[in-house]
Amino acid sequence: MLDGAVLSVAPRLVARWVRRMLRIAASAGTTAVAARRIDPLVVFEAAVSQDAHRVDDLARALGDDHGVLRGLAPLLARPMLQACRRAWAPQVPETWAHGHCPICGGWPAIAEIRGLGGSRYLRCGACGSDWRTQWLRCSFCGEDDHEQLGSLASAESLDRETIAICDGCNRYVKTITTLAPIRPEHVMLQDLGTLVLDVVALERGYRRPAATGHGVAVSVVATPSRLRDLLGLCP
Ligand SMILES: [Zn+2]
Ligand SMILES: [Zn+2]
Repeated sequence: MLDGAVLSVAPRLVARWVRRMLRIAASAGTTAVAARRIDPLVVFEAAVSQDAHRVDDLARALGDDHGVLRGLAPLLARPMLQACRRAWAPQVPETWAHGHCPICGGWPAIAEIRGLGGSRYLRCGACGSDWRTQWLRCSFCGEDDHEQLGSLASAESLDRETIAICDGCNRYVKTITTLAPIRPEHVMLQDLGTLVLDVVALERGYRRPAATGHGVAVSVVATPSRLRDLLGLCP
């Protein structure tokens, strides 16, 4: 749904947000990125498009050799992606059967076994959306041969947390059993809170997919200031 979208944003708000995040990153001890040399709208557009190559090109142009911009991009995009999910979730077809997120194209951060009925949902960490999925089918490559699919658990993890693995593509998705849906804003926190499962999966040679499941191209355009319009000033 995000692919091809034109997002109108208030440029001053976006600039403030981008610079604030850069300041927080710098105060946390990362290498400072020259905020003055950044065009906030360009960075924001690349971040919302989840376009890692474009973010890397921008980082190179800024002399950011330490991956600061790459690390910040998902955080810069998150409020806008969550807003897209709030606006568009009711339009997601119930028949959506792909492994990637119907709103923003991202791969699922976690899978959720929900409620007493045990329906299986995939959850997007970027926008928070959820979509129902089949049991015994890999979200990433579509593998449905049960001999290629399995699960892992860690000694430290709770019974309600496991790792669904696929030997067809060597990828995994963490799986959490819940009574009620995890709140969309909390999906990323659940992802971070189950880091031990990532370690277990990585130690066994499984990995998370690096790129988004479906590339999206987003145009971010500046909305003219209403105050300027009211005062008759040129933008
Ligand atoms: Zn999403
Ligand atoms: Zn697979």
